[in-house]
Amino acid sequence: MEKDRISTRREFLTREFPGALGAFSVLASGCDTQSEGRKELLNKEVESLKQFFKNNYKCDVKARKFKPEELITIQGTELSLSEEKEMLSFLKKEFIKYPPEYINRCNLKELFILRALQRLGDEAQKTDTSGFTPTIGSLYIEAYSKLKNINKLVPWHEGVKLALIFHHELFHMADASDEITRFFDEDDDPWIACNPEGINAYDLNVRTKDFKNRPIGFMESYGLSAVREDQATVVQYVMVNLPRAYSMSRNDTVLNSKIEMCKNYFNTLSNGRMNEQYWHDLESGRVGEGYWK
Ligand SMILES: [Zn+2]
Repeated sequence: MEKDRISTRREFLTREFPGALGAFSVLASGCDTQSEGRKELLNKEVESLKQFFKNNYKCDVKARKFKPEELITIQGTELSLSEEKEMLSFLKKEFIKYPPEYINRCNLKELFILRALQRLGDEAQKTDTSGFTPTIGSLYIEAYSKLKNINKLVPWHEGVKLALIFHHELFHMADASDEITRFFDEDDDPWIACNPEGINAYDLNVRTKDFKNRPIGFMESYGLSAVREDQATVVQYVMVNLPRAYSMSRNDTVLNSKIEMCKNYFNTLSNGRMNEQYWHDLESGRVGEGYWK
């Protein structure tokens, strides 16, 4: 997910998920001004959230106090203690949509949440990005960012943006993991074959930003750029707002087939735990803490 897509993505989000990006706010500089007592309480809450990710998913989630060498070809700044608590609480709601079996198969060992993420290229060229998987095991996602021409920081977790980034990047991670027998691949015939006739899909020369509306068969125009981005954009909406994904595909049989293929993918990779019953429960909001016990 790169920042040059965001203008299109923002338009899409605002239209399809009203309120998703509506709540912009200016953030404090990041220093905590809480009293010592408050700080101690926050520390305890953060520690217990971290334990939750560690105990249930064997994953270290960090937004502060990491060593610079832990960042691989990426740049970003730490969050404050209160921001870390807010982000971990938010992410917990997204993590619990997955059974531990799936997260383990994704090979997610550590997740960093940073402010204003930049990817460092070979030639030291920096690219803004909202999520990145540099190696098997590590995932970086952006919590706050600066949008072009808006001199305000945007907290991604307000609305659905942070959740979309998380599910999108986690899918790429699963896709890239060597230990997984690939469910989808770039030459995945059923996926490509179901696209509408005459659509110029998966062509690097297609300027996906030029699309005002989502093309038929695609969750958003960014999906036109590559098969794996098409899959990741379908997955992100299925996981964030399944009822909305269903209603978008009601009169779109191609999109409907893609949603079903993604559900089959999850069912297979979770050893059958993300089955039809799970999708009913997710749709009706019954997947919460304790669901996988
Ligand atoms: Zn992507």
